Amino acid sequence: MPKFYLTTAIDYSNGDPHLGHALEKVGADCIARYRRLRGDDVHFLMGMDEHSQAVIQAAEENGLSPQAWVDRMAATFESYWRRLECSHDDWIRTTEPRHHRTVKALLEQIARQSPDDLFVGEYEGLYCFGCEEFKQPSQIAGGHCIEHPTLELVPTRERNHFFRLTRYRDRLLALIRSGEFRVEPAIRRNEIVRLLEDGLQDISVSRNRQSWGIPFPGDGEQTVYVWFDALINYLSATGYPDGGYDRLWPADLHVVGKGITRFHCVIWPAMLLSAGVALPREVWAHGYVQWEGAKMSKSAGTAVSLGEAIDRHGPDALRYFLLREVGFEADGNFTWERFDERYTSDLADGLGNLASRSLAMLAKYREGVVPDVPADTPLDQAGRKAVAAYAAAMDALDLRGGAEAAWTLVGTANLYIQQIAPWALAKAGKEAELDAVLAALARALYRLAVMAAPFTPGKAQLLWQSLGLRAEALGGGWPGLEQPPVTGLSTTKPEVLFPKPHTV
Ligand SMILES: [Zn+2]
Repeated sequence: MPKFYLTTAIDYSNGDPHLGHALEKVGADCIARYRRLRGDDVHFLMGMDEHSQAVIQAAEENGLSPQAWVDRMAATFESYWRRLECSHDDWIRTTEPRHHRTVKALLEQIARQSPDDLFVGEYEGLYCFGCEEFKQPSQIAGGHCIEHPTLELVPTRERNHFFRLTRYRDRLLALIRSGEFRVEPAIRRNEIVRLLEDGLQDISVSRNRQSWGIPFPGDGEQTVYVWFDALINYLSATGYPDGGYDRLWPADLHVVGKGITRFHCVIWPAMLLSAGVALPREVWAHGYVQWEGAKMSKSAGTAVSLGEAIDRHGPDALRYFLLREVGFEADGNFTWERFDERYTSDLADGLGNLASRSLAMLAKYREGVVPDVPADTPLDQAGRKAVAAYAAAMDALDLRGGAEAAWTLVGTANLYIQQIAPWALAKAGKEAELDAVLAALARALYRLAVMAAPFTPGKAQLLWQSLGLRAEALGGGWPGLEQPPVTGLSTTKPEVLFPKPHTV
């Protein structure tokens, strides 16, 4: 079984999780679930970035210690991810001892392997506390950070430890251009290539006298810069530097937002090159969730509460909508109207209706038992075509394309029922033809349960069990997609998979 080590960005411990965080997490979870279906040995990591300076302020405002505050935030975030059915295997927090240990070990390894790469210098620049980063002129618009137009940039000057990032520009360019280190999608790769071509600067990797963070090895006055610290979480979770860490490492895929590609596609691989540790194979940078074409903002009244979005039609529907409509590549829009439309057309009237009428007819005409007719119908041909298109899209991390391919089969199957009118076959006593149609519908539902599982895991599981299949067998259902083994199954009518809003 090939291993597949997959990570998401770790989130700052301030504020509640919102739809933007959710898009990243359900997208990565969709990939993790798909890889498990294909038989990979998946290790899926999520977690929290807890050393940001904003933590100190938030903790004070809430009358808590920083540790008590981040404990509370971690519990809040993870409860949302569990509600959204995220199937992560590990949950890392940068305040954990295992992470502190790896940060120290990696810095010491850099100092051993590339002694010139860490040096002491003086830094002077404009600092954004939203990004926890000194901003370059190209990252500033109208005197403010592009990512945080409402925050003031703070002029800062201090003695720091620096990392010789400039040394890695040429190697990074070569690795990215050759595809040995993949940056996807292409629009993000091109941005990174341009950034590298424009040239790099050495970066400050410590902060002076910060009480909250990881002490810089060998310097009692300095704390490891929060980004340098945070990136290392991906390695900490493997047990580095202990032997056997390479059972998981290198990461096969880092899923991150498009705003932090410089950290993941330039600084992180440079740190690893410096330490002589293998590079991750791929970084995928998704776009942002927008509200009618603009970035969501609490102050502008266009922020959607994640809890409200989950409650609207349930977690499966939100996962489906984010990945099918908003998308996992470029920026995409979220509106309640579109969410309601998609819910009705694709889920309630689409997959839900197909499942309920197919299973109702099996119950009515065959006491729920799938007839033994392995015949090749037009619906089976459409099913195999959908599976092939689905796999091609999912392998390319085109999640929207994967959902589209699966739901094309939903439409075809619903149309097939309308055109064939099985109730007319029953009335005319055409039993053999009716058997063939009912068996073909059962095979379509089998294929759909498997393909829908990464997007709508809870409902896919319900459908799978309604087909009379063992709950745990869904994970290994992929090999059955060529000729779904449904003959003789005892199906049952499921509860309504996706109730119409007015019946909720
Ligand atoms: Zn910023």
